[in-house]
Amino acid sequence: MEKTVSCIAVETARSTILRIGLMTAVTFVTAMAQISNAATPSLPSGANSDSGLEPIYYSRLPMPLPRPDIALAYAAIPIKVTLPKPRPSIEEVLPTSTATLGQMIAQQTGLESTGEHVYKLKSGEGIGKLLRRAGYSEKDIASSVMAMAAKASLRSLPVGLKFTVSENGFVFSNRVGRDIYTLRDPDAGWLALTAIRPVESYLTFAHGVIKNSIYKAAAVSAVPDNALLEYIRIMGFSVDFQREVQPGDAFEMLYERKIDLLSGEEISTRLHYAGLRLSGDQLGFYRFNRDKKGAGWFDKDGNSAARTLIRTPIAGARLSSSFGMRRHPISGFNAMHRGVDFSAPTGTPIIAAGSGTIKKAGWLGSYGRYVQIKHNGTYSTAYAHMSRIAVGIVPGARVQQGQVIGYVGSSGQSTGPHLHYEILVNNRRVNPLTVSLPTGEKIDPSMLDIFRKKVVLIDNEVMANGALRYVTNDLTLLDE
Ligand SMILES: [Zn+2]
Repeated sequence: MEKTVSCIAVETARSTILRIGLMTAVTFVTAMAQISNAATPSLPSGANSDSGLEPIYYSRLPMPLPRPDIALAYAAIPIKVTLPKPRPSIEEVLPTSTATLGQMIAQQTGLESTGEHVYKLKSGEGIGKLLRRAGYSEKDIASSVMAMAAKASLRSLPVGLKFTVSENGFVFSNRVGRDIYTLRDPDAGWLALTAIRPVESYLTFAHGVIKNSIYKAAAVSAVPDNALLEYIRIMGFSVDFQREVQPGDAFEMLYERKIDLLSGEEISTRLHYAGLRLSGDQLGFYRFNRDKKGAGWFDKDGNSAARTLIRTPIAGARLSSSFGMRRHPISGFNAMHRGVDFSAPTGTPIIAAGSGTIKKAGWLGSYGRYVQIKHNGTYSTAYAHMSRIAVGIVPGARVQQGQVIGYVGSSGQSTGPHLHYEILVNNRRVNPLTVSLPTGEKIDPSMLDIFRKKVVLIDNEVMANGALRYVTNDLTLLDE
């Protein structure tokens, strides 16, 4: 059976409280036609149409509002009562960006505008100079720039910023999801206005059997890179993808994509659920936004997915030498290898296995370019043979888990590009692949109820899409 990717687009009311999920085939097909690089969609069964799951929505003007938490939508199963009208949000007041500048000029001022050209802001150039290049008169430059300055700081315009210019106006975007139009007003001189770019969101479920590598399996399902990297980061706390994943294991992901309808570009991807079946074991983690503490990943009971340390602080590498006695590749003597080696191409980024403070960063004898991070009173990690240490990685610097600290190389005593990785417990080097690592924090009990609602929502969605774990135990059936 083919791995499936299904996309669903649903129209919803713009209110943050009442979200009425209504899926129509027309919306779906129209919406899908806008995504240039999406996998062939399959219409989901009706099972989803009334699930009320929040991230599936289509709205003309949703962009700049922070999205309400998915769990809030749970309490708003469609009901037919008239709610008091909320005050209009700024998105309802602002116009929607148009496909061409000429359309906005005609819509706002009634003027015709022929020919639009794109100009990039050059180094040392201000907007005035750019408009002069575009053929504007000094008078038009003075009044249009004054109008524009009310909407955007003239100093914050980066070199290379694109302006689309015609004789009766110009437009640029200095913020995702927003355009600033400056238009010739036949009555009042020049005016500037902010418009919202139209955006659609899709919730996509992807699953597949892992035959060789998670990378290949995800590629077959057309999982976007961002979602896959996040997935690997989360699972990396518990799973060593190079060692533990066996053929026949399977992955599940639920992610949301936001598409700019005018450009067709993907604005963002957000993973909501990460599942993995590992020789009979089931791992499942849910994204949960904890207000001020930011988003985290938790299992269904609210335990953090984050361990204090990542066992494999490098993506796409192959374990080439494990911990223990071995014949030294250079000296030829038998010796204890007090770390693990991951072979990977020169330049592959190496990430901090946990947050902490840089203890050493520099050349260290046979280790070559070497970085050691102290994570807490008990744990440190060390990384050797780098080709380059990342900028800012100096003794005393704080690093966050997942931050790139250097790049794979073959410096020091080494036979080829690889990462030599050590975990130190109370300064004693232990086997990174087997040492038991403490789990991270739990969800605050006061937020557990709302978290559980999100879990139910996600599980319903995943189940409705034919999740492996609920459908069959015989994964060979899915491996055709
Ligand atoms: Zn080594």
